[in-house]
Amino acid sequence: MDLEPDLQFEYVRAMAQLGAPDPANSNAIQNFGASLVRFGTQEQTSRFLPEMLSHERLWAQCFSEPEAGSDLAGLRTRAEPVADTDLLRIFGQKVWTSRAQYASWCYLLARTSPIDRDARHAGISLLIVDLHQSGVEVRPIRQITGVDEFCEVFFDGAVASRDQVIGELGDGWRISTHTLGQERSTRLAARSLQLSESVAALAGLLTDHGEAPFTSASVPEELVAGYCDSVVVEALVRRNIALADQPDRLTVSAAMGKLTWSEAAQRQASDAVRLLGPELLDSAHRRWWVDLLGSRAYSIYAGTSEIQRNIIARAAGLPSARETPGAPS
Ligand SMILES: Cc1cc2nc3c(=O)[nH]c(=O)nc-3n(C[C@H](O)[C@H](O)[C@H](O)COP(=O)(O)OP(=O)(O)OC[C@H]3O[C@@H](n4cnc5c(N)ncnc54)[C@H](O)[C@@H]3O)c2cc1C
Repeated sequence: MDLEPDLQFEYVRAMAQLGAPDPANSNAIQNFGASLVRFGTQEQTSRFLPEMLSHERLWAQCFSEPEAGSDLAGLRTRAEPVADTDLLRIFGQKVWTSRAQYASWCYLLARTSPIDRDARHAGISLLIVDLHQSGVEVRPIRQITGVDEFCEVFFDGAVASRDQVIGELGDGWRISTHTLGQERSTRLAARSLQLSESVAALAGLLTDHGEAPFTSASVPEELVAGYCDSVVVEALVRRNIALADQPDRLTVSAAMGKLTWSEAAQRQASDAVRLLGPELLDSAHRRWWVDLLGSRAYSIYAGTSEIQRNIIARAAGLPSARETPGAPS
């Protein structure tokens, strides 16, 4: 919408207040879209952006692999040039790929040069790949929430043309870092605003069940803490959205926002269950127990909390968890 960061945030707030869900194409619009605008060619942006926004085609993020999650640079999926053509042929496996079963396109990280032990981030490229072609198999995985939100994706000879590579061959690491910065900032806007909405909903529910009006001494500590968390997270996310054009500062600041949000949202989900007690067994209150189960994933996706702490520690000149003598590995 070409809005200034503050207005963009207000738009997200209005949507959250109306209870609107995340856009079904959030993988594209909120994560990858800004990277496409920044690093893609004119032809790529005019080809892919309109159908991302219109939701004509959904997108998936194919980064993580069975042996490469936190250690993403260890990825093994490879894209090999096909002789005498402008095609790359892809072999490998991705995992935890959210909503891949509904997606037509993915943005995929693959090795286009063999791994160099001294420069593991080099030789990785970012490609747009059509998921509806032979050589691609998508297998959904059922989660504890009862839905199969994410999938395994197998590539066995699927192709992408050279004009579907974003930036230069071998420049994928830099571009994916930008995409992850978006995932840990813009993408968190709606989720951060849902924290205050949940505090209000929880207070409303307790009122309905005769536990309110509260006096200043009887407001449950959990509600006060939840409200304070929501203010802190909102401030962090708002600042991170404003840093969108400063990738170097955004990486660390977005790690702080993601870490703070994950912990606050997990705390809120378990506090809600404790406050509501047996009410949760009622299917009318499904939202709260689904939140509790789903919240286990908050400190894993978009980079685990340990990885966010490592990013912050490195920026502060401190050792990371795995470099700390005596730290559990
Ligand atoms: C709901 C959900 C949706 C997801 N959607 C997608 C998606 O759409 N696309 C996609 O590509 N991926 C997706 N992921 C994958 C996610 O990015 C990875 O799960 C995450 O990066 C962690 O990788 P891993 O699962 O391989 O765990 P591992 O990297 O094996 O980590 C295992 C444990 O070791 C810790 N650890 C690892 N390395 C270090 C270190 N250096 N220092 C300290 N501790 C460390 C981790 O913090 C974690 O606790 C999704 C995950 C979930 C849960």
